[in-house]
Amino acid sequence: MYNPFDPYNTKLSYIEKKNEILYSGKAKTLFKTNDPYVLIQHFNDDATAFNGKKKDVISNKGIYNNISSIIFSHLHFKNINTHFLGRLNDREMLVSRVDIYPIEVVVRNIVAGSLSKRLGIEEGKIVNFPIIEYYYKNDELDDPMVISDHIFGLGLIKDFDKSTLELITNLAYHVNYILKEFFEKRNILLVDMKLEFGFEHNRKFTVLADEISPDTCRLWDMTTNEKLDKDRFRRDLGGVEESYKEILNRLL
Ligand code: UDP
Repeated sequence: MYNPFDPYNTKLSYIEKKNEILYSGKAKTLFKTNDPYVLIQHFNDDATAFNGKKKDVISNKGIYNNISSIIFSHLHFKNINTHFLGRLNDREMLVSRVDIYPIEVVVRNIVAGSLSKRLGIEEGKIVNFPIIEYYYKNDELDDPMVISDHIFGLGLIKDFDKSTLELITNLAYHVNYILKEFFEKRNILLVDMKLEFGFEHNRKFTVLADEISPDTCRLWDMTTNEKLDKDRFRRDLGGVEESYKEILNRLL
């Protein structure tokens, strides 16, 4: 039977989770498995913002963030190369092992957040075309925004060349185009999002990785402009769990 959450149709049923953690992040943990090329991405209920300065636990958040499985599955069927291998259960997705490039790619369709603050433009303005920004992943520096010349003129990232930056930029535009339409069909505006890419060990090429969820996207109700994403937590707007649940329900 066709299973939208299992694009490889259980060919990976031999996978067993190991009790060994490869990486433990703010809202997710990556577990090793019996296959060195396959990991389990587990979403927990921790919520953090402002580089970990604001923290809380939101019940069931891990389950709602597995919205990521639905989104990656959709992108897989739209021929985007991703690390997604399948949805395992409520809180876990099966992913291939990648080395994440230390660059966050932000795509913006509507002005919000840091862009609004930095340039003094009111939130909600529709941009003339999708805006792409790069942020250098570095906790000590609070992930500063960088341009291509910083990356290559300073040799910021080892083994990262211009063609890879070009590739992930093109992928980011493409993913944005697909997801904007995907959310619009569910009466949701994709305001902006953060994407991460990495080099996949097994197939030896660049893939879209990490997560795509209300933690990493700004999602507004198309009719009311109500915020249904992490801004509810960042800005103490209340109803975080309800909003994440609402997004999940519209995506199912
Ligand atoms: N974002 C993210 N992780 C980060 C920074 C940003 O997922 O470390 C997402 C954020 O949720 C939003 C988009 O990237 O959807 C743009 O964020 P922005 O630059 O406006 O920063 P913020 O206002 O979140 O500090």
